[in-house]
Amino acid sequence: MPFEVLTMGRVGVDVYPLQTGVGLAEVTSFGKYLGGSPTNVAVAAARYGRSAAVITKTGRDPFGDFVRAALDGYGVDCRFVGTSDIAPTPVTFCEIFPPDDFPLYFYRLPKAPDLDIRPEELDLGAVRDARILWITGTGLSEEPSRSATLAALGHRAKAGTTVFDLDWRSMFWQEQGSARAYYAEALRHTTVAVGNLDECEVATGEREPYAAAKALLAAGVELAVVKQGPRGVLAMGRDGTAVEVPPVPVDVVNGLGAGDAFGGALCHGLLTGWDTARAVSFANVAGAIVAGRLACSDAMPTETEVAAKLRATVPQDRATPDDFEREV
Ligand code: AMP
Repeated sequence: MPFEVLTMGRVGVDVYPLQTGVGLAEVTSFGKYLGGSPTNVAVAAARYGRSAAVITKTGRDPFGDFVRAALDGYGVDCRFVGTSDIAPTPVTFCEIFPPDDFPLYFYRLPKAPDLDIRPEELDLGAVRDARILWITGTGLSEEPSRSATLAALGHRAKAGTTVFDLDWRSMFWQEQGSARAYYAEALRHTTVAVGNLDECEVATGEREPYAAAKALLAAGVELAVVKQGPRGVLAMGRDGTAVEVPPVPVDVVNGLGAGDAFGGALCHGLLTGWDTARAVSFANVAGAIVAGRLACSDAMPTETEVAAKLRATVPQDRATPDDFEREV
């Protein structure tokens, strides 16, 4: 059976402080979590009962074993998790200064195993047949991952839904000036683009939400989703329809992972066949829930949790919480 959600790219171990409001110099204890944006998206989709897998690579080390065990525990298929000898499995630290400052410290140098994904290693049948293929901007940052990502997109040729998470991390790019051209190439093979304003600006040169969404549509996608963190989400379709979803109030604990929760929930909504407004509203709530929790992968909500928060927070005249309730 084809996977419902097949993601590709970063994996690692998140080592997150158990104290908030203090810098890493003062932190004394940490929690260990599965991490890496597309990996988290697969975990989030699996929480909704979706069959999910991730194409990635770990190092040959105990953290690689942890990654596989954690994926298995979350119900994400590990068959496309390879091993590379170029480096150990990356770790990522963060600092937690709620409500809006969460610096990340990636230990991925000189090069992460997940950037060693090679085109010839891809299971092209699985890539083509997955109902959703999810790729990221980081996957384009270095070879051979860049060629592998573009090969996957080319082979798929817009079959099903292909989501490009713009995922701009400048520190991963040795030649930052080349990014726009690779983003443009990937967008030509993409049906849904998802990004925050910084990421939209890198991909299109635009950072005003409506202009950015229009530029993404002009670049080839059918649905452009512009995330604005605590300011909500804009989604624009090729037919010119635009949906603006306001933020859901939340006591922020750690904003990291909200985007991945949003992504996994968006996949679930698109697979279910919800219209854009409904899928984005659901994803918006899922993102807010994870912003209110410490971890990323470990914090992904169930459909029941998202539906409950939707019911509690969305004005009755605007959304369809009862519809969600019926389908839970
Ligand atoms: P981000 O990737 O940080 O833009 O977050 C993804 C999505 O999660 C946002 O578009 C919102 O839907 C939600 N989200 C993130 N942070 C917050 C927040 N502080 N309050 C409410 N919703 C949030």
